[in-house]
Amino acid sequence: MLTSLKLSRYIVTSDLLSAARTGFQGRVVFPTRSSSPLTVDELTWRRIQDGALDALPPNAVQRLIEAKVLVPADEDEFAAVVSENMAAIEQQDVLYQVVQPSAWCQLDCSYCGQEHSKKWLGEEQQEEFLQRIRARLASGRYRHLKIGWFGAEPLTGLTVMRRLGASAQALAKELGCGYSARIISNGIGLTPAIARELLEQHCISEAEITLDGLAADHDRLRFTKTGKGSFRKIFDNLRSVAAATELKLVIRCNVDRLNADGVAPLIEQIAQAGLAQRVQFYTSPVYAWGNDADQTALDREEFAQCEVEWLALQMRLGFQVGLLPPRRKIVCMSVQREAEVVDAYGATFNCTEVPYVPAYGQPNSYEIRIPVSSIKVRSGAKLHAGSNETPANKLHNFNQQLLQGEHLQCASCNMLPVCGGQCPKSWHEGHAPCPSAKINMKERLNLLFAADQMTE
Ligand code: SF4
Ligand code: SF4
Repeated sequence: MLTSLKLSRYIVTSDLLSAARTGFQGRVVFPTRSSSPLTVDELTWRRIQDGALDALPPNAVQRLIEAKVLVPADEDEFAAVVSENMAAIEQQDVLYQVVQPSAWCQLDCSYCGQEHSKKWLGEEQQEEFLQRIRARLASGRYRHLKIGWFGAEPLTGLTVMRRLGASAQALAKELGCGYSARIISNGIGLTPAIARELLEQHCISEAEITLDGLAADHDRLRFTKTGKGSFRKIFDNLRSVAAATELKLVIRCNVDRLNADGVAPLIEQIAQAGLAQRVQFYTSPVYAWGNDADQTALDREEFAQCEVEWLALQMRLGFQVGLLPPRRKIVCMSVQREAEVVDAYGATFNCTEVPYVPAYGQPNSYEIRIPVSSIKVRSGAKLHAGSNETPANKLHNFNQQLLQGEHLQCASCNMLPVCGGQCPKSWHEGHAPCPSAKINMKERLNLLFAADQMTE
C-alpha cells in the first residue's frame, strides 16, 4: 500500500528549525493542496523524501495522507487541482455581483488608472441589473446573494446604494436567498453614522479602506482632486468607526519604493490607537493599473522580505495575521459562472480593475459585449456567450487555459493550489502576478514555528 503513495509536488517547507526548550529539530511542512501545515521532525522528513514510508508509524502516514503531503502515486496532481477548482466554480452557490454606483471619487491617487466623472448609475440601469439578478437567483442554483460595492468611491453614490441595495435585499428575500455585502471605500465618507447605516440598512459587514503610510507618505500617494491630503480624515474615521460600530475593518496599504519605510510606523500607529485586534491589515505592492504605476514598485524579492518583517511586527503588536494562504479554488470573480461588475454607465465586466480605465479603450475592450440581460440564464448556462476570444472570456476561461497548456509558470508552480494563478487579467496582459507568498513562504513558515514556540 505504501508504495502506492508519493510525496506531493505541492509542498513548501520551512528551514530546518530547532526548539531550544524541547530539543526538537525539524521543519514545518506546508502542503498547499490542503493548506494544513504539519511540524515534522527531521528524520521523518528525510524518510518521507526518500520514500521510506515503511519506517513510519501507520498513524503518521495516515496524518500525512490526510494533509495531502502524501498522495496516490498515480495521481496527476495538476489535473486534480485544476479539476477541483473547476468543480468549485461549477458548484458555487453564492452569486457575487459587484456594483459601482458612482464614477466619482474625491481622490486623485498617483497610481490610480481610473478616470472619474460625476456619473451615477441611473434608475433604468439599476432595474436592468436587478432583472439580471432575478433571473440568476430564479435559476435555483444559488442560496445567497453577495453584493460588492466598489469604486471609483462607492459612498459618493450613497443615493444609488440606498435604492438599489434595498431592492436587491428584497429580491434575495423574495427568492429565498440570503444576502450580504461588503464595500471597498477610500474611507473619507466612512463616518460612524454612515458605518451604522451600512451595517444596519445595507447588510454590509465589512469595509476595506486604504492607508498608504502615515500622513507624509499617504498624502503623497492619496491626495484629493484639489491636492489636499486625506490621511487625517481617514484615520479619524477609522478610529471612530472602530469604537462606535461592529463593522469589520480591513486596511490595505499599497507599497512602493518611496513609502516602504513608512509601513512599520503606520502599523505602530494603528496599534497605538488600540486597533491591533480590531482591524485586519495587509500590504500590496503598487502595480500597473492600465498605467505605469509599477515603475516605482519595489522589486518582488525586496517587497517579499519587507513583508515578512511587517508580518512579524504585526504579530508582536497583537494583530491577527494570516501567515498561510488558504486553498483557493476560485481565483477571483472573473472565473465565476455569472460574474458581473456593473459600472455607473451600466456597462458590464467580469473584472473589477477594468471599468473607467481609459487605457482599455473606448468602448472598453474588457466590456462584456453581449448585453448580459439578453442571455437566457438557466442552470448550466454560461454568462459569457459569444467568442471565446473576447478579453472577458479570456479571463473567464483561465482554468481551461491551464489545462490546455497555457500559463506554464502556474502549471509547474507548487503554490498553484493556494494561489490559483492570482489574476487572470495580469496573465492576459503579459504580467506574471505571483503573490509575495511565492517568494516568502519559507519565511512565513519559519515565523509560524517561532510563534508556536512562543505560545507553548
Ligand atoms: S482578473 Fe485580476 S484584476 Fe480582475 S478581478 Fe480577477 S484578480 Fe482582480
Ligand atoms: S501566479 Fe505565480 S505563484 Fe500563482 S500559481 Fe501562477 S506562477 Fe505560481
